[in-house]
Amino acid sequence: VTEGPLLLVVEDEPQMRKFLRASLRANGYRLVEAETGEEGLRHAAAYNPDIVLLDLGLPDLDGQRVVERLREWSGVPIVVVSARGREEDKVAALDAGADDYLTKPFSAGELLARLRVALRHRDHVRAAPDAIVVNGDLKVDLVKRLVFVRDREIRLTPTEYKLLGVLVKNIGKVLTHRAILAEVWGPSYAGQTQYLRVYMGQLRQKLEDDPSKPRFLLTEPGVGYRMRELAVP
Ligand code: CA
Repeated sequence: VTEGPLLLVVEDEPQMRKFLRASLRANGYRLVEAETGEEGLRHAAAYNPDIVLLDLGLPDLDGQRVVERLREWSGVPIVVVSARGREEDKVAALDAGADDYLTKPFSAGELLARLRVALRHRDHVRAAPDAIVVNGDLKVDLVKRLVFVRDREIRLTPTEYKLLGVLVKNIGKVLTHRAILAEVWGPSYAGQTQYLRVYMGQLRQKLEDDPSKPRFLLTEPGVGYRMRELAVP
């Protein structure tokens, strides 16, 4: 019998833990639970979980602080959970090194999909990087620096290519404005969200069939962007 992934839940609300227990155990996850940030950090060290689901509204520690402290010694995938309307909490946690987020209330299906992406991304990062990334009918040859949609070559400017490169190396994962700007333009540009909006618009014009209904380049309102993971045709 293969053991399912071990998930550490850090959540102070008993009702929420009950919901998580029911949805996750039924889908093969093993669970360790913590009710506070400090307990979560202790459990993360003691159990070495495969993934952490972290509520940002905890009684003792700021969720962002928990992410920062975990990231001092661990690369474990972290999915944060926040209340609706608290975009700044999500963004701070993502900038501190969280991998993804869910907004309460969410369905079991949504939760499982996010966890699958985070686990797959971790396995992908551990493996050797692929020279050619394929996502749906988008193909990026990272060695030759060539981009194709349905085998038609797409000409990109160096900055557009750099931006696309950051996104395809993080397929399925949300990236904050700050993280993308720092990576593509450099840390001193981390606040220049208008640059990003302009270049993202250009990339959509070139890659999407209908730039107003993007298939690849999704906007995460108030947070950043995500390259949607698509099945390879
Ligand atoms: Ca809470």
